[in-house]
Amino acid sequence: MEKYYIGIDLGGTFIKGGIVNEHGDILVSDKTPTEVEKGAQGVAANIANLAKALLEKANLELSAVEGLGIGSPGMIDSNGGNVVYANNLGWENFRICDELSRLLGGIKVKIGNDANVAALGEVRFGAARNYSSAVMITLGTGVGGGIVIDGKLVEGNMGAGAELGHMVIVRGGEQCSCGRKGCFEAYSSATALIRDTKRAMEAHPDSKMWECGSLDMVCGKTVFDYAPVDIYAKEVVDSYIEHLACGLVNYANVFRPEVILLGGGVCAQGDNLIVPLQKLVDKELYAGDKGPRVPILIAELENSAGLLGAAALLM
Ligand SMILES: [Zn+2]
Repeated sequence: MEKYYIGIDLGGTFIKGGIVNEHGDILVSDKTPTEVEKGAQGVAANIANLAKALLEKANLELSAVEGLGIGSPGMIDSNGGNVVYANNLGWENFRICDELSRLLGGIKVKIGNDANVAALGEVRFGAARNYSSAVMITLGTGVGGGIVIDGKLVEGNMGAGAELGHMVIVRGGEQCSCGRKGCFEAYSSATALIRDTKRAMEAHPDSKMWECGSLDMVCGKTVFDYAPVDIYAKEVVDSYIEHLACGLVNYANVFRPEVILLGGGVCAQGDNLIVPLQKLVDKELYAGDKGPRVPILIAELENSAGLLGAAALLM
C-alpha cells in the first residue's frame, strides 16, 4: 500500500504544505499566510488547519498518513522537536512538534532547519537522488546549506551546526553578517557578488558594465552578462568563482561527499559557473585525481525542496 506524508515548509510570510508519497510525488499542495503576529500557538493552529485542508483535498483520513514533517527557519533541536530560536518568527523554545501532534490527533511530527531539510529533499528526490552523501550550498542573500551523510542529516548539537556560510576563507577579510570577517558567505552570496560588481564599476568608469544603467540596476546576473566583453567584469567573475571553489574544496575535504549541490539564483549561469568551478575544485581537492572525484551539480527541486525534504524526515 502506498504511504503518504504531510510536508510543511514554514516561512516568515507563508506556510507551504503538500501531501507526498514515498516516491516524492506531490499529490496536492497549498499555502496559507503564516500570520507571525498571532504568536507561536496561532501559527501552529494555521499549520494544523493547512494540514487538514490538504488531507481533505487529497481525500485522505488523518490515519492514512505516516506523519507530518516541517522545515522551519532558525535553530532547531530536531530530537526534542523544538524551535530553539527563530529570529524571523520571534520564537524561543517552542515545542512545535508536541503542539502539532496534539492538534492533529496524536500524529507523528518531525522538524528540521529549513536549509537542512531542503538538502535532504534534494538527496532523496532531486539532483542527488542517486547518491546518499551530499553537501548542498544555496547561494542567496546569504549562504545556507545542509549536509547529508549516508542519507542522514548532519545538524550538530541542538541543530546549531551545518552553518556552511560561516567558515572563514579569508582571515581578516570582508565583514560578514555573523560578526566575523572573511566568511565564505561574505564572498559567495549573491549579496557579495553584487557588492563586488558595484565596486568594480566605481573603480572603472570606463567599464562596459555601466551600460546596465546605474549601480542601482546591478543584480547577480550583471557581471556574468558583461564578462565576455569587459575585462573588469571578467575579473569579478573569476574572483567570485575562485572564492566559491575555495569553500567547496574545504567542504569536500572534510566530508568527501559523493556530490556537491549548488542552489540559488546564480546557478542560472549553468556551465559559465559550473565548468570553471569544477576545474578549480578538481585541481585543489585533497589527493587530486587519486581520490574519488566530487562532481558539482545544480539543485533541481527549487521551491519544492523544503516541502519534500520535510516529508522525507519521516521516511
Ligand atoms: Zn559569517
